[in-house]
Amino acid sequence: MPEKERLFLTIDEAIAAIGNDFKQYTSQLNLLCVIWPLVFGEGAYVRLDVHNQSVWAKFPGKTKLIPSSESGLKQRIMDQLTRWPPDSQHMARICAMVFGAHATTGSGPEPNVLPGIWIDTDMADFVCTQCGRCCRTLNYHDRCSLIDYQQWRDLGRTDILEWVGTIQQHGRVVACRIWVKPGTNDYAETCPWLARSDDKNRYVCTIHEVRPAICRQYPGSRKHARMTGCRGV
Ligand code: SF4
Ligand code: SF4
Repeated sequence: MPEKERLFLTIDEAIAAIGNDFKQYTSQLNLLCVIWPLVFGEGAYVRLDVHNQSVWAKFPGKTKLIPSSESGLKQRIMDQLTRWPPDSQHMARICAMVFGAHATTGSGPEPNVLPGIWIDTDMADFVCTQCGRCCRTLNYHDRCSLIDYQQWRDLGRTDILEWVGTIQQHGRVVACRIWVKPGTNDYAETCPWLARSDDKNRYVCTIHEVRPAICRQYPGSRKHARMTGCRGV
């Protein structure tokens, strides 16, 4: 498996990645039910009362169930992981659940890096079906980087730069947004570079070779694809 299909995280990085996952994806109650006992130990569980739309959490050694919510459970899990980080094997099990991917313990790719978790992104055989959904529905407006901007400048792509909104300080561009209708502050209703292919059911990116990093990196994992409605296979 090529290295780029595997991602190495130290324990601290894995905890931060779990926090990001929690923030990024709502509606993960079922996942929280599964990892709750992994985080808090035997005897801990979460009970979902679908009828009353309530959530109850049980901690080991406590007799009472505590009323909670998805955000409350996430906060408690993050507090627990941050205060008492699990060993790498335990962390690998939690990561496998959270990221929906194979995770194993091991040494990092660089010398002197502490052992941590290898996560298979499982994207080696991902096939984009060119449905165009991500380009039409995901919010990427604030995700244009200065590296993207500089790349288009270096290439002299004024056609692309016309659609980039910039914030300048002391004559320097410090932030940018895509895709902004030229001469306005308004976002374009749809990406100006998205076009239907000859096969009318598919879409193509007309700046594919120089598209922004946010587009190149999507989807970052099978879970990311699943949670954002990607129709790739
Ligand atoms: S730049 Fe290309 S990949 Fe990015 S949203 Fe537009 S059409 Fe899609
Ligand atoms: S949503 Fe997924 S399958 Fe559809 S164009 Fe985007 S990456 Fe490809």
